Amino acid sequence: MVVILKRNAEHEKVNALMRQFEDLGLKTNLVEGTETNIIGLIGDTSKVDEQMVLANSVVESVRRVSEPYKAANRKFHADDTVVDIHGAKIGGGNFGVMSGPCSVESEEQIIEVAQRVKAAGANFLRGGAFKPRTSPYSFQGLKAEGIELLLAAKKATGLPIVTEIMDIRHLDLFSDVDVIQVGARNMQNFEMLKQLGHCNKPILLKRGLANTIEEFLMSAEYIMAGGNTNIILCERGIRTFETYTRNTLDISAVPVIKHLSHLPIIIDPSHAAGIPWLVEPLAKAAVAVGADGLMIEVHNCPAKALSDGAQSLTPDQFDGVMQSVKHLLDVEGKKILPANC
Ligand code: PEP
Ligand code: MN
Repeated sequence: MVVILKRNAEHEKVNALMRQFEDLGLKTNLVEGTETNIIGLIGDTSKVDEQMVLANSVVESVRRVSEPYKAANRKFHADDTVVDIHGAKIGGGNFGVMSGPCSVESEEQIIEVAQRVKAAGANFLRGGAFKPRTSPYSFQGLKAEGIELLLAAKKATGLPIVTEIMDIRHLDLFSDVDVIQVGARNMQNFEMLKQLGHCNKPILLKRGLANTIEEFLMSAEYIMAGGNTNIILCERGIRTFETYTRNTLDISAVPVIKHLSHLPIIIDPSHAAGIPWLVEPLAKAAVAVGADGLMIEVHNCPAKALSDGAQSLTPDQFDGVMQSVKHLLDVEGKKILPANC
């Protein structure tokens, strides 16, 4: 990190600022130029509060030369992280397919969809029990009962289950859930992220609707700072000026995140597009660009779905998508490993 000092900054105040940095365990290097003086900071600057430094009267500006995230940074962890959920792995050449309805609606529905997505090649069952809805009058999910039904579907099919947490006070209900999803709207619920950092479950962290890649990785860092390193990132489209699609899939986020971080990243083409026929081309793009998996919404009767029916695939449509995806995975030499649960 480089701190650019104001012209005519008083020496005493500059010295006091340098001591402040040294107290944080950093080495300081004052460079006096003809026009500008700067302080170079050497060491782990991730704990330096930029806003606090900027508030100092001798500081003109601050530039970071290294990323503010450490645990998630590939610079300190060259190998891909592989998240292993009862043998179903994600990352490092292993591809995860999480499919199922937006919301769990009944035992019959979730078991039927689970059987169909498993037969098509998915290795995880997704389904929302607690639903983040824009309107308080929309279906909010079956909550605890939804998790029970997911567990029944897991028992019937052997698929590990992925479901969203909306409130950390519900964590006890997730004790038998295999992957806890943090949805786009909670990506920056920092108190929740901190608590999830202390649990030993894999976390599927979705990118916020309007968050930068750096903010996304900082949210992963929150979880990792608590000790939980089993994180799967999910790009699910971001808000742009485009209105044709529900969101805009930021496909470049995949190679950028792979460059910056060792964490696996999957793509959710369903929420990105909001249109069923776009799921297949975007899923193929996901494989081509190096994603570690997919999350796809599948409903046995999309027209009657209690949430996100308009973007859900029928099981038959999902079969077709999986055929193209599996073909591309073969070309890439990537595998979908089934879980053993
Ligand atoms: C979901 O997966 O159903 C969901 C609500 O996703 P997101 O948080 O990406 O909107
Ligand atoms: Mn949904």
